[in-house]
Amino acid sequence: MSTEEKLKDELAHTIRRLYERGLVSGVGGNASILLSSGKTMLITPSGYFKGGVAKGDLVTVSISGHALSKGKPSSEMPTHLLAYRLRKDIRAVVHAHPPAATAMISAGIDIPPMTPEHSVMVTKLSVVDFAPPGEEGALAVKGSLKDCDVVGIRNHGFFSLGPDLHEAASRLEVLEESAKIYMSMRQLGKISMLQEDVVKRIRAVYSRE
Ligand SMILES: [Zn+2]
Repeated sequence: MSTEEKLKDELAHTIRRLYERGLVSGVGGNASILLSSGKTMLITPSGYFKGGVAKGDLVTVSISGHALSKGKPSSEMPTHLLAYRLRKDIRAVVHAHPPAATAMISAGIDIPPMTPEHSVMVTKLSVVDFAPPGEEGALAVKGSLKDCDVVGIRNHGFFSLGPDLHEAASRLEVLEESAKIYMSMRQLGKISMLQEDVVKRIRAVYSRE
């Protein structure tokens, strides 16, 4: 199997994984990966049920925004293209609507790192006010995409960037996990946070591996 075919398998699998994990619903969410040339990307199609996306449904788009295959690319394509233009260190972009994490940022509450994985994987998170998907949405997150791997949009969801799809998608899973733990603790009436020095020690341990 060629590298491109493997990446197609990986991309279709990633969006189905996000659906199965409850991080997107129905036709929501999208993901893309930059091909090795750096001049084209594969992106999930617009309007598809995300639990059933197959690799044949994916759309190939040039980095200048022209569709190179059949199918209609995700309406969030402008943000994906912008991320690849701004960040030479990333190869994958994932957009999802994790419910607990989205609820917290929409309510104006920061999501604290509640697990070692969160401490290591989500080090720079920025939150912006709601803007409609498309060109306007891309403009709203532009300033944050330059130096943050995760950007939250109030009353909408998150964009996550990474060197590969696995890392970009995992960032959103660990973020949602922290939000759920935090909200469960609030229900229990007692909140125990990872202290700043503990977070630093966790990061030091992982950076040595
Ligand atoms: Zn969305």
